[in-house]
Amino acid sequence: MDGRHRRHRLTAIAGLTLLVAACELTPRTPTLDQPPNIVIITADDMGYGDLGSYGHPNIRTPHLDRMAAEGQRWTNFYAQAPVCSPSRAALLTGRVHVRSGMFGRRQGVFFPDSRSGLPDEEVTLAEALGELGYATGIVGKWHLGHLPQYLPTRHGFDSWYGIPYSNDMDQNLPEGLTNRSALFEPEIDYWQVPLIRNETEFERPTDQTTLTRRYTEEAVAFIEANRDGPFLLYLPHSMPHVPLFASDEFREQSTAGIYGDVIEEIDWSVGQVIAALDRAGVSERTLVVFTSDNGPWLSFQTHGGTSGLLRGGKGTTFEGGMRVPGIFWWPGTIEPGVTQEIGSAMDLFTTAIALAGGQVPDDRPIDGVDLSAVLFDEGPSPRDVMAYYRLGELYAFRQGRYKVHFVTEGRYGLPPERTDHDTPLLFDLDQDPSERFDVAAERPEAFDAVVAAAERYRANMTFAEPLFDLRGGS
Ligand code: MG
Repeated sequence: MDGRHRRHRLTAIAGLTLLVAACELTPRTPTLDQPPNIVIITADDMGYGDLGSYGHPNIRTPHLDRMAAEGQRWTNFYAQAPVCSPSRAALLTGRVHVRSGMFGRRQGVFFPDSRSGLPDEEVTLAEALGELGYATGIVGKWHLGHLPQYLPTRHGFDSWYGIPYSNDMDQNLPEGLTNRSALFEPEIDYWQVPLIRNETEFERPTDQTTLTRRYTEEAVAFIEANRDGPFLLYLPHSMPHVPLFASDEFREQSTAGIYGDVIEEIDWSVGQVIAALDRAGVSERTLVVFTSDNGPWLSFQTHGGTSGLLRGGKGTTFEGGMRVPGIFWWPGTIEPGVTQEIGSAMDLFTTAIALAGGQVPDDRPIDGVDLSAVLFDEGPSPRDVMAYYRLGELYAFRQGRYKVHFVTEGRYGLPPERTDHDTPLLFDLDQDPSERFDVAAERPEAFDAVVAAAERYRANMTFAEPLFDLRGGS
């Protein structure tokens, strides 16, 4: 048993006395007259190191830092993929994205000419909670298929306000302007991204300068309308994915440039959501989770974030590509603390359904696990492994403190070149979270154990046909 679990072992022994006294054998489940509300807020391409509570020295994030101080801050929390679409699919289905075809062999995400989307057979968190009587709303970026049959309203959400794919798509650049230059000095009409309510487009191009503010207003209105609950609010922000836009109130207000302005506006937005929950009197029956869909887009330099001490960023299977902030806030139920347990955004699916008193689908493999024991400080995470895929290929695998890399590759023009390792690299993520020192030769037992675990995992994974490669008219 490693140090990560030691605190829980002691807690378990202390808890045993209480269990005997109370004849109570189930974990402490919050006593509520109805299932809890679930609010999941995600940033887009925000890195592990972009918040004050995760070590950023000068971007001001007081609302998220308050959530972290009052709630549980995770230091080993992962997006399931290093880019948008597969990460979002996994979060909403509780399944590794390759099982649902949410990957490509050539394309990493969906595009405006994609011919596919999240398959109808998938059960989303919105569908599962809707069955249990939840009101379900999404405010923000979808990115799981823009054609009508794939929209959020066809996947269990009662309402949607947001954009169908990334804010840098539908390019309409002036003659001679490169994409990169446009992204560094963006104008609204360079990207003809539509803004949609439910299934109706009502603005094109989307005025991205006010997008974070408008998402916030929509989220607050949803909370007020559904205060009697229970409800699921999924709030996937479009920012800080490039091109970066902030509203007038936040522009040039941070000391970290436009990227800092954008993060500070998202932090303000989180504060507005928390305030709305407080005003509605539902904070103590609401779990709020904040995370990011993948790591920072490092090739955009000052327009990208930082993964802090982690290696790599968006698109890579180094830690910086997938390990992201994970903050869980539920006043009166989640005790303040920091956990080193391992969790994945996929686990939000299983955890939320368990908290709602439901069952995850039993007719298919579900990869998400229930993190309640960690949230309620009752035991270790059931998750001990993480699989790191790029374009549907297993590049790396973590078990406990150790991670092996079968393939390493940078992304978006950044090193390293793709390298297939005949002898996989082995990193000890507890001693070396920055993945600097290959210890494969000096720790043969650990090496054999994690490679064997990876091979078992690989043998048990099921793949659907990759759907991201279906693009264009042909
Ligand atoms: Mg993203």
